[in-house]
Parts: sequence; structure tokens; C-alpha cells
Amino acid sequence: MKGQQGDPIVERPGFFEKTGLFRRLVHDSSGPLTRQLVLNPSAYGLPSRVDAHDADGVVKSVCGYCSTGCNLNISMKDGEAVSLSPATRYPVNLGMACPKGWQALEVLDAPDRGKVPLLRRNRNGNPEPVSWPDAMQAFCERFKSIQKQHGTESVAFISTGQIPTEEMAYLGSLAKFGMGMRHGDGNTRQCMATAVTAYKESFGFDAPPYTYADFEESDVLVFVGANPCIAHPILWERVTRNQHKPEIVVIDPRTTETASQATLHVPLNPKGDLVLLYGLARTLIENEWLDRGYINQHTSGFDNFVGFVSAFTPDVVLDKTGVAPELLQRLAELIHRGKRVSFWWTMGVNQSHEGVRTAQAIINLALMTGNMGRPGTGANSITGQCNAMGSRLFSNTTNLLGGRDFTNPDHRRKVADILNIPEENIPRQNSWAYSEIIEGIRSGAIRGLWIIATNTAHSWINQNDVKELLGKLDFLVVQDMYYSTETAVMADLVLPAAGWGEKEGTFINSERRFGVTRSVKKAPGQALSDFRIFRIVAESWGCGHLFANWTTPESVFQSMKQLSAGQPCDFTGIADYRMLDELGGVQWPCTSNDAATLEYSTNERRLFTDGRFFHADGHAKFIFEEPQPLSEPPDKEYPFMLLTGRGSASQWHTQTRTSKSAILRKLYPQDAYLEINHIDAAALDIIDGETLQVTSRRGSIQLRAVITSSVRSGQVFAPMHYDCVNQLTQSVFDPYSRQPSYKACAVKVLAME
Ligand code: SF4
Repeated sequence: MKGQQGDPIVERPGFFEKTGLFRRLVHDSSGPLTRQLVLNPSAYGLPSRVDAHDADGVVKSVCGYCSTGCNLNISMKDGEAVSLSPATRYPVNLGMACPKGWQALEVLDAPDRGKVPLLRRNRNGNPEPVSWPDAMQAFCERFKSIQKQHGTESVAFISTGQIPTEEMAYLGSLAKFGMGMRHGDGNTRQCMATAVTAYKESFGFDAPPYTYADFEESDVLVFVGANPCIAHPILWERVTRNQHKPEIVVIDPRTTETASQATLHVPLNPKGDLVLLYGLARTLIENEWLDRGYINQHTSGFDNFVGFVSAFTPDVVLDKTGVAPELLQRLAELIHRGKRVSFWWTMGVNQSHEGVRTAQAIINLALMTGNMGRPGTGANSITGQCNAMGSRLFSNTTNLLGGRDFTNPDHRRKVADILNIPEENIPRQNSWAYSEIIEGIRSGAIRGLWIIATNTAHSWINQNDVKELLGKLDFLVVQDMYYSTETAVMADLVLPAAGWGEKEGTFINSERRFGVTRSVKKAPGQALSDFRIFRIVAESWGCGHLFANWTTPESVFQSMKQLSAGQPCDFTGIADYRMLDELGGVQWPCTSNDAATLEYSTNERRLFTDGRFFHADGHAKFIFEEPQPLSEPPDKEYPFMLLTGRGSASQWHTQTRTSKSAILRKLYPQDAYLEINHIDAAALDIIDGETLQVTSRRGSIQLRAVITSSVRSGQVFAPMHYDCVNQLTQSVFDPYSRQPSYKACAVKVLAME
């Protein structure tokens, strides 16, 4: 049934009587409406039990931290998870898990779990526990009031790569098709937006081409700005299983854990990667170390590229990157000699002021050498969060559902038809990116914000600025597992959410593999799965009828299948969650023809085996652009370049979860620290372990000195997991992906008196 977008503002007593929430409560209950009934999740027409695993036994579930997508066997007793171990035959992790996965259950029992909604009735008041109906009343009244006064676009949402795909699809549809929002983005902007834009422009669709078997099949692996030893430890384990005695090249300013294991480390100047990659392309061209057949048949724009890179001589490379001509030549020879060369990148590339062009410079190398579509090859971005790929396809933020385009009328019509919603409910323009939403708060265009499962006040760049802006909002809602995050403590309303292990749905990992995550534990108190919260919001707002068929995550999965039909990510051949369990996950695309060929443990596929890309002419494009200078190079006043990144395999992002495990806490330093080279330490009379004052043009923080040779003189490194570090970083973004550049700003360092 088709319905209308959003009810008029509800500001009077009797609000719940006017909403679907009240109707459902009355309809579903057999007795009078009581406060007790209202607090019972089953009253919302949703099951309150642990999903279908009440008995003892083992439940298989995909891990909810990183994009590797390991599968875990979870042992159940009396309907609750008691322990876990890595699944041995799952095609991703083959019996392995990192410390975060092993400790995934422990973090669910933390004392600061949100157990009841918390409402701050005025800006200076303390948050007070309220019922779900009171929370929903405040949510709807405040957001609708803002929309009435400032337009529907004045309320926005910030989503996450940490929740299942079905929840993302529900949130994006609810916010945009039901609540009239136009602007919504996710924290995937902070990790994967650059790779998304690069792939779309080069390949015609956001399509990481590889499968994890490629780690084992390459004879040359080139990692650019990637430290899989600690960022993706199970993927690094896959590299160590490689039987081809591979050359492992690491291009990174730091001697990271991965660089120290490499057969060749290329220590370049920070953000020298684009010049180096262009110089590398020039060297390959000059020596005719190319696959001309592949270039001619499957690509476009190569001749212009040849002309462009001719300026990147070895002398230019030396000047801009610090990489000597001999090292450049050796690197080119390694790539030339390799039969199966794979290129891998992560945040060192993505989080840059010119990340898109850098990612495309990597893609260009793979194309010109014919290292694409064969085992052990590819230009491969490794994703960050467990469901960043789900967000890329189905969060309905900057893409319309299924990797479609909001500005395309055919796409809007198709989505409206499949979901049976009025076409006019679908925005005709793209959303603002995360950074633009934040700027929208500054300009007054954004007055209300709903943040789901992310920690903006810790993780966003130039933290002091964003905290000040969040404080200016008329109404801030945070939906999270924990009430204690830096963002939740600023909220007017906190909605307590279930976490990984307390709900079900699918994640899509780095190699495009759908896997099922299961509910193996009850959420504490009145915390509800994000899926249930979205349903309650829809009913309370008055647009629940638009999503009447979405009663369970798996019902949304069936809609997502329909939305994927005919798209490069078509997965109409995946019948249901059971099929995903039985096959050890399934990579997209998976049409019914593909599905007929899949078997457990041989279930690995890569893209572009036929050399056809997703542009209309079937060709991949060579895309390139003049490198741009750093916006804040070191100078006399701020003489050090600050690099940020992951600290250890036991820490995850803002440590919202990993800090809750006593075992994980023992595996990483508790206090924030700064790595500094021994030459600089000696010059500044810094002693290892002493407290340093580290200052940028935006903030000043104290960090413990760690004297090391893993950073070069003139550079310092601080892990991003500690809440103070982003006080230093600068609001600089890639112009195409709008991804923040976290890894290059100028600081000064002083030993404390
Ligand atoms: Fe989980 Fe990633 Fe660790 Fe695997 S590598 S156990 S997916 S955090």
C-alpha cells in the first residue's frame, strides 16, 4: 500500500494515541495498556527471544569489528552464548581470529551499557531515564518541530559501518522516504569514501575486484599505506600462507609492523605516494614493461596518461618523495618480473587530501601491467569496518539503495516500485557528505542530528571544532550500545541499542562476501536492536505503513535482493540466511546461475575475469591529475609532521568496545603516546616515557614519549584510538570523496618541565 511522507507535527497530549505505535500496542496486547506493557519489546510486534537459538549448541556468526569478516563458532548454554572460537573451514579465516574477535562476547557485559533511554529535558539539565514511549515522543516532537520551523532538510543523520546491512537499509529508507530528511551520511566516509569514488570513476561501479585467495596466489604483493599485520591480522595470516615465496613490498613513511616483515620497504615522505606512483608508471612505460594487449582491449585513456606521467622523472620523484632512483627502478623491476602482482591499499591512501587520485594511480598500475582479473592480481582496497561494504551499497546515504543514483529518475522509479512507496518520497538530489553536514551545523542549515553507532566527538577530524558544533544543535539524538561515549554524553536523547551478538543481519566483508551475524545473547535492560528502534521510530513518526513488510531483518534482506537485481552487485541468487550459512558466505555478484556453481570452501570469486568493466564501453579508465601540495607542511613554528593510525590489533577505533575487555586492555598501552625518532628526541632532550606537550594550530595535548626508529626524523606518530589525538588534526578533505585527511598535519613537541 502506498502512503504519505511523515504526519504533521504532533505537539499535543495524546500523541501516542495518534501513532501507529499506540495502535500496535493496543492491537497486540490482550490487556489494558500499562507502563509495564509499553516497556516490553514484544509489544511492538517483535520477538523478544534470542533469535532461534534458545537451545544448547553452536551458532555460527560473522565477527562485528573489522571488514575481514571472520566467522566465529559461538557455544550456547541455556539459550545464551558462553564462549566462542574461530570457525575452522570458513573460507575467510580458516580457523583464525584476532584478539578482538576472541574477546567479542566480553564487551557486551560492560557496566556502562545503555539499558534505558535517557532524556535531557533542557540543555543544562542532567539526562534522566525515561520510557521508550516518552523517548519516542521527545524524538518525534523535537525533530518535527525543527523541521516545521527550518524545513525537513534541517534534520540529518550520521550512520555507521558497524550495523547489519538490513538495519542500514531500514534507517536510510526511514530517514529519507519516511521522515523527509535529505542529508545523511555514515562513518564509512572516514574510511572508504576514497576507494568508493576511485572505483566508481575507474571501473564504473564501486567494485573491489579481489578475493582473499589472492593473498596466497600472488608472487608480488605491493601494500601502499597499509599495515595489515595489526589492522587486518587475519588477512596478514593469509599472506603468510602464500607458497610462492612472494616479494612483499610496503610503501609507507613508517617502518610499520608490516614494513618490518617486507622483502622491500619503500620509506617515502608523508603524502609522497601520488608522485611515487606516477614516477613508477613512467619507469614501467619507459622500459616498455607493459601489457599492451590488455591496455588496448580493456582500457581507455592510456595515451594521455603516458604524456602526463612523462614529467615524473626519477629526479622529480627523489625531490618530492625522498625515494632514490635506484629504489624506484628496483620497485619497477619487481612489478615487471612478477607474473601475478597484486596491489593493496588502506587508510594511508584513503585518508588523504588527494586520496582518490592516489587510489586511481594504483589502479592505473594494475591496468597497464595487465594485473587484473587473474588469480593473485588486482588493485585492491581493503575495507575498514565490518560492514563498510554494506553501507556503500545499502545505507541510502550518498547512493540510492543498491548502488543507485538519487539524481537518476529511472533509478528512483525502480526503487519506488520495488518498495511500493510514492516516488515523490525519494529525494532527487544527493545527500551532503559528513563534512558538509558538520558545516551545515555551523551555517545553521542543520539543527537536528541523529547519530547511530558512531562516536563523532572522538573520531571526527579537528575534534574541538566538531564538539563545539555538536553543542550548538537544537536536538542531538545518539543511538548506541554505551551511554558513556564522548558523543552520547553530549546528547539530548540517548537510545540504548543492542550490539553485535544481540541481533541478526548480514555484513558484507572486504572481498564482497555476505555473511550472517546472529543474536546469541539478550540485550541488557530495555536496550533494543537498531532494527527494532527503527521500527518504533517509523511507527511513532507515522510512516510505519511505508515499511509494513519489513518485520524482520531477513524480510529486508529479501527486498535488498530485489533492489540489487540487474546491478553489478546483483545477489538475487542468494536464497536466504540459511544458504549463506551453508556456503560459508557468498560474494556478490551472485545470480541464480552463479549460485548453481557454488560449493562450501571453494566459494571464492574475483571480478573482471573477462576484462569487462562497468562503464558503458566495458573499459576501465586511466584517471590522473597533478599532485597537490600539503595544506599544512611543517615549518619553523610547527616542525613535525604528525601521522596517525592504528596502534595495535587489540584496539578498535575509538575503543568504545575494546576498552571494555580486561584482556584486551592488557594488550595495549592505556595512556596515549607519541612515537618520536631518537634523533629528534636527543635534540629536544626528551627521555623515553616522559610526558610531552604536543601542539598543533587547533589544539594542545599531553602524550607519553616513545622513542623509536619506526618513525623517521621530522615525523611523529600517534594512534587514533585515544580520545585526545583528533584535537590536533586538521579539517582537510579529498575534494572528490570528501574523506578526511587524518595523516598529515604540522605539530610542535616539547618536553614538559
Ligand atoms: Fe574480527 Fe577482524 Fe579480528 Fe577477524 S580480524 S576476528 S573480523 S576483528
